[in-house]
Amino acid sequence: MGTRTRNGSHPNKRKRKHEKQPSFTEFPKRPRTCNKPVGGNDVGQQRMNEKRETRIDKNEINVSAKRSRTGYYACEIDFLDLLPDDLVLLILCKLSASADSLSDIVNARLVCKRFNELGQHSWVLAKASIKSLSLKPKVWSDSAHCFFKMCAEAGNLEACYILGMIYFYCLNNRRSGAAYMAKAAMGSHASALYSLAIIQFNGSGGSKADKDLRAGVTLCARAAYLGHVDALRELGHCLQDGYGIRPQVNEGRRLLCKANELEIAYFLTHHRHVEFVQKVLNGNCQVTRQFVFSPEPHPANQFLVEWFASRERNGEAREKEGVRSCSHVNCGRVETRRHEFRRCSVCGKATYCSRGCQAIDWKKVHRHECVPTGAGAPLVGGAVQMGGLAGVAV
Ligand SMILES: [Zn+2]
Ligand SMILES: [Zn+2]
Repeated sequence: MGTRTRNGSHPNKRKRKHEKQPSFTEFPKRPRTCNKPVGGNDVGQQRMNEKRETRIDKNEINVSAKRSRTGYYACEIDFLDLLPDDLVLLILCKLSASADSLSDIVNARLVCKRFNELGQHSWVLAKASIKSLSLKPKVWSDSAHCFFKMCAEAGNLEACYILGMIYFYCLNNRRSGAAYMAKAAMGSHASALYSLAIIQFNGSGGSKADKDLRAGVTLCARAAYLGHVDALRELGHCLQDGYGIRPQVNEGRRLLCKANELEIAYFLTHHRHVEFVQKVLNGNCQVTRQFVFSPEPHPANQFLVEWFASRERNGEAREKEGVRSCSHVNCGRVETRRHEFRRCSVCGKATYCSRGCQAIDWKKVHRHECVPTGAGAPLVGGAVQMGGLAGVAV
């Protein structure tokens, strides 16, 4: 027992530790959680610092020695520890809001234990960018699910909307999905308002009797007021056809033209505007009829598209159950019951969750492949017939 030191370690072992860390003898130590300056005449403080030296693990020794050799620091003080929590939170909020992917946030949390704890603060989660919430279905897991729930509970509207769509369409949890989308809609999230409008128009999650056209038009109008292009187009068609609202043909046409203008403005300000202008100048393109604008799909729609595509690759085809998906490639919504979606009245093959999806798919794809069905091929009962949009101002 006499050969042991006061802290219980063997003297030879302690000596070996000191031999491995020559750099620590050159610099004064400071307490990790105290702002007092290190050194001075306080003998007790110096003894505490000596004890801390023996507790520093091997990795920290190497890092500190490397820094001292390269001359980055005159001593091994960790300046991050000196920053107040509020300032670190502010930095993490900025990083979260500008993250290009979820890995940016995860990597920041892996820096140290303090970053990991502060990275789970509601301020940081509420600011998570839409790019950081753009997950692929193949990386969907319990931890990703937990992250989305934490973001949604922190008040992140994008997380509320994406999680609501995943619950409603992918996980068949209609009640929770609608609740999350409603939470986003109450925060004036335009896409959530539009998605709830589609649910009301189709009576999704319920029976055909659960359709509420007036509620759908009201939600659509609110989303259109916030500048949602698909909602504008849907509302324009509702006004033209008198669907859920008193018909106002001129106002409907005005909204359809407004939707086209917004789409063009989006296209010109985001990408490929040089190619577009060249086509117009060369006379190869008429702005509103021949040139097809395809805005980026929302991450929620992208998730649905890839989710159901992967399920079909795995042999879980929905057509066997009689449930079909929206034919617009960037939509991803699927029927929650048989014959829920409207179908092209010309061919009867393409199905659409909304008039907006039909209008844009007609411009992009379907007008090139729509073939009239034979006279003896009636549409299946229950489905809503809809024109091929030949006369619609699109
Ligand atoms: Zn659709
Ligand atoms: Zn068709």
